Parts: sequence; C-alpha cells; structure tokens
Amino acid sequence: MKPLLIGGEWVRTSHGVDDINPSDTTDIIDSFAQAGVAETQTAIAAAADAAPGWGLSNPQDRHDILRRVGDEIMARADELGHLLSREEGKILSEGVAEAVRAARIFHFFAGEALRLSGELLPSTRPGVTVELTREPVGVVGVIAPWNFPLAIPAWKIAPALCYGNTVVFKPAELVPGCAHALAEILHRSGVPAGVFNLLIGKGSVVGQAIIDDPRIDAITFTGSQATGERVARASLPHMRRIQMEMGGKNPLVVLDDCDLDRAIACALDGAFFSTGQRCTASSRLIVTEGIHDRFISGLADAMARLKVGHALHDGTDIGPVVDATQLEQDLRYIEIARREGGHLRHGGEVLRSDTPGFFLSPALITGTTADMTINREEVFGPVASVIRVRDYDQALAVANDTPFGLVAGICTSSLKHASHFKRMAQAGMVMVNLPTAGVDPHVPFGGRKASSHGPREQGSWAREFFTQGKTAYIHP
Ligand code: NAD
Repeated sequence: MKPLLIGGEWVRTSHGVDDINPSDTTDIIDSFAQAGVAETQTAIAAAADAAPGWGLSNPQDRHDILRRVGDEIMARADELGHLLSREEGKILSEGVAEAVRAARIFHFFAGEALRLSGELLPSTRPGVTVELTREPVGVVGVIAPWNFPLAIPAWKIAPALCYGNTVVFKPAELVPGCAHALAEILHRSGVPAGVFNLLIGKGSVVGQAIIDDPRIDAITFTGSQATGERVARASLPHMRRIQMEMGGKNPLVVLDDCDLDRAIACALDGAFFSTGQRCTASSRLIVTEGIHDRFISGLADAMARLKVGHALHDGTDIGPVVDATQLEQDLRYIEIARREGGHLRHGGEVLRSDTPGFFLSPALITGTTADMTINREEVFGPVASVIRVRDYDQALAVANDTPFGLVAGICTSSLKHASHFKRMAQAGMVMVNLPTAGVDPHVPFGGRKASSHGPREQGSWAREFFTQGKTAYIHP
C-alpha cells in the first residue's frame, strides 16, 4: 500500500483503496492509503508549522528545488506519462505530453521564484517613500480533479511553493498514482518537512476537512461547479481567499467563410481528444447554415476514422471514459438530447474491446437548440452537439448564451469577425482557428461567469493569488 506524505514522513493508514485502470478493470495499478479527518488535521498542522520558515526562505533555494522537480519529471516523462494514461485513460502520447507540460510548469515557476519584485513610489508626503511588496499567503489547500492528474496539480503546487506558501494537496480519488509519484519527486527534491503534504482520500472526508479548517489560508480548487460552491461557502466564514476553476460548455463557432478542413480538425480535437474529458472541450458546435451540412458530414467521416480503445495500445486515438459513473452520465445526456429532439448523427455507443473498460464511441448530436439540456449542462465526455445558426450575429449570441465562460473558439477567415468575436465572447480565453482545448504552460489560464472565480492560474499572473500585498510607508 502506497503511503501519504505528512510532515515529511511517509504515513500508512489501516485502509487502502485500489487504483483501477479504466482501459482494463482487471489491471490494479496499486493500493493507496486513505487519509481520514485525523490525518488531514495533522497535515494541516505540519503545513502551518512549516509556513513561517518557508515563507522567509531564500528564493534561490526555492528555485533550486522547483528546478529539480521539473528536471526529474522531464527525465521521466515517458514513464510518468505511461502511469497517467494507465490511471486516467487518455492515450499515451497525451499522457507523455501532459508530463512534459508539468515539468515545464515547475521550470517556469522555478524562475519566477527569483523574479518576484516590488515597487518603490514617492509619497505625497515630503520625505516619505512608499514600498509595495508581496508576501506569501500561508497554508494553501490544493484540491484537484482527475482529468489532468499531473498538469493541474503542477500549476497549483509550483506557484504555491514558488512564492513561499506551504501546501496540503488533495488529489481526486481516481488518480492517486500520479499524485503519489509527484509527492515522491517533491520529497526527493528537497522540499522541507511539512512544506508539502499529500492526503489521498475522499472529497467528502479529506476535502471537507480541508475546507472547514481555519488554519487553511487559501484554497485553489479545480473541479465541478457543485463542489466549487461548497468550497466557496465553507471559505466565506474564514474570509479566506479562493481560486476556483470549474466547468465549461465551450462554444466553437464555425462560419461559412472558414477553412473547412481546419474547422473539422479543430472540432475533432476540441470535442473528442482526451475522450472529451477536458474543461476546455468544444461541447457546442455553432455552425452557420451555408457550411452546416458539409461540416457535419466531414466531421462525422473524421469521427468514424477515430479508433477507440485501450489508452496504452498503439493506434488508439480515444481512450476510455474514466469510470462507470462518468460513462453512465455521458449516456444519460445523450439520451436526454435525443428525447428533447436532437439527432444522434454519429457514435454514442458503448463499445466492446479486448479488455474490460469504459469505451464509448464519440457522439455527435445534430439539430439541437440553445435551450436544450445538452447545450446548458456540462457532460464531460466525448459528446458534442451542433446548433445551426443563420449568421455570425446569431452565432455570437448563442455562443454567449450559457452560464459558463471558460473558452470560446471561432473558425473563420474574416479578420472582422475574428476580431469582434475575440472582444465580445464572454469567456476567459478565446481561440481563433484553433481547438478550444490546448493551452500554453506560461500564460494565464481561466474563465468567467460560472466557470471561474478568483484570480487567474498559471503564468506570471499566478502571483496575484499566491501572494498578498503589503504597502509600507517609510520615513527615514
Ligand atoms: P469534483 O468536483 O467531483 O472533484 C474535484 C475535487 O474536489 C476532487 O479532489 C474531490 O475529491 C474534491 N471534493 C469532492 N467533494 C468535496 C468536498 N465536499 N469538499 C472539498 N473537496 C471535495 O470534480 P471532478 O469530477 O474531479 O472533475 C471534473 C470537473 O472538473 C468538471 O466539471 C470539469 O469541468 C472540471 N474541471 C475544470 C477545469 C478548469 O480549469 N476550469 C479543469 C479541469 C476540470
């Protein structure tokens, strides 16, 4: 049984849970010790004890540690990517690419540790200067989802440590293997005892104990909207800062004047790669009428060529859905879409394979309208719906007609429409002639409306959340 990491010690508990490969449910990756409330409180105490020392540590030391973490992840990207794909179900090339991305994030924040600067301003009072500096926030609770089990923890843990905060990390239940591998690397790279703690366990137990604890100064959360609301409610009485990235219902607008092959490639990647299990997935395809039929038939043909299967097997394009519950949810939404008048143009079938896993052929639902359930709620699977629109103006209105606002994409050759869309899309990120999913590791990431709350993640903007400002007035 793989242990927890609390206060610099590897800790075993009486209860372990198996980590199961969604491509082959007979393949048990390992068993992982489960934390309860007591272990959670001990880890929070350790992080609180370590916070003052780490907060005043030499930035060169923080740089060196984060650099070593990035170096080890990069050197082991193939092996870690394999573990990720075995555990989460995205195909091997995507798993390895995610490991590389996690390494780059640690490298980026290693550099940021040495770049933290302040400002010196003249005061309005004679002889006085004003100094603006940033200090760590304290103990950060990191609560992560299962769909990017290395990259999302990396883009939360690396900036937290970079700016001098200590961390209590709670990964999603389905991906303890990647979390444990990351904890081993951090431990080996010289993170002092208590500065980074790993708690594997249930959201309703460990997650809840983290969000209820007044010693947690900040929470960075990525997950569903329902859990995000809990995090926000539990945090308010403590007046703690929160950063939350939640669901999406991302539009990809396809206009008559687009490059059709490119638009099909964008939709195929954005909607279905990584089994559609990306918060940035293009789940609503909004297509103007002049190109609608050609786009649908081209996309359906391309979908038919995708091979669904074991994530680690050569030639697989789409791995399994992550577990039985998610598969049920995907099928339920497909059924609701049909009942409400959508037409299942392609896929949406549970597939048999050589191994017992959760295989679903990517589903394309046409003839839908903006008010249907399939266009209002996040499915989080390989399911995309098509909304036919008259023109650009209607496309933009439909794109914005959603409670979510993570990312919005447009395929067009019109500079006028691309520029207008870039400004008017109610989303934190906009893609022009690119898939809605797929972002750089060194620039801010985040959304608007119900998709996000709080300052941006990643890039140099991450410092807004992971530091707190101080204004000092000095009279010599
Ligand atoms: P989830 O909300 O079920 O779980 C997220 C995390 O919260 C897990 O670690 C879980 O254990 C924990 N949790 C559950 N109950 C808790 C509680 N009571 N208190 C504290 N923590 C608790 O989400 P998921 O199923 O793991 O991930 C899928 C969701 O994540 C989707 O909605 C997806 O859109 C979203 N997501 C968003 C982004 C983004 O950046 N916007 C990125 C990836 C995933």
